[in-house]
Amino acid sequence: MSTVKADLSLCQGYANCVVAAGDYFDIDDDGKVVLLKIDVPESERTRVEEAARSCPVSALWVED
Ligand code: SF4
Repeated sequence: MSTVKADLSLCQGYANCVVAAGDYFDIDDDGKVVLLKIDVPESERTRVEEAARSCPVSALWVED
């Protein structure tokens, strides 16, 4: 099981992550990403990593 992490100080609310994986990411009223789920099963890792890579300011990453 992997874990998805976010650096809120970097997030600019572009919402690419929400478009790519709306079951893991949302945006709050302040325009910052919200992690809806933290644990990433292996079966979903590629999809969540692609969503993290879609962030233009590299505020998201997946850790082992
Ligand atoms: S794509 Fe990046 S900057 Fe945009 S909301 Fe998601 S984490 Fe924030």
